[in-house]
Amino acid sequence: MKNKIYCPVCRIHFLYREPGEKGQEVTCPICGAKLEITGPAGKGEFPARKFPQEPEEEIRERVDTFARLKGYVFSEDKELVMEGLLEKKEKYGDFYCPCRIENIPENVCPCLKTRHNEVRKEGHCF
Ligand SMILES: [Zn+2]
Repeated sequence: MKNKIYCPVCRIHFLYREPGEKGQEVTCPICGAKLEITGPAGKGEFPARKFPQEPEEEIRERVDTFARLKGYVFSEDKELVMEGLLEKKEKYGDFYCPCRIENIPENVCPCLKTRHNEVRKEGHCF
C-alpha cells in the first residue's frame, strides 16, 4: 500500500508505506519533523500536522532526527544556532534559519538547500 503524507515543514508529500491511523506519530524522512496523522487517508493521502510540542523540544528533536537520518554531526556552534532559531520562532512565528536574512518557508530549518544535500556538497550548512 502506498500512502502519502503532507509535511507542513517541507511543504511536499512523502511516501508512507504503513497502513497508518489517526493519532499515529510519523517522522518526515526529508526534514526530520515529528508529525501526527490527523485523520483517515482520503485518495491515498493522510492529513497530518506538526506533533504538538513546546518550541524548544520541537526544533531540538527535528534537527537531531534530521542529523541522524542524514548521518551529519553538529559543529560547536550548535547551541548558538539553537538560540537563534528559538529567537526567530518567537519573533517571526517559525524556525527560520538565523544565518539567513529572509524569513521565508524555504529557510525554515532544516532549510531547503540543506534538505537538498548542501551539507554533502559544501561540507556544512549555510
Ligand atoms: Zn518534512
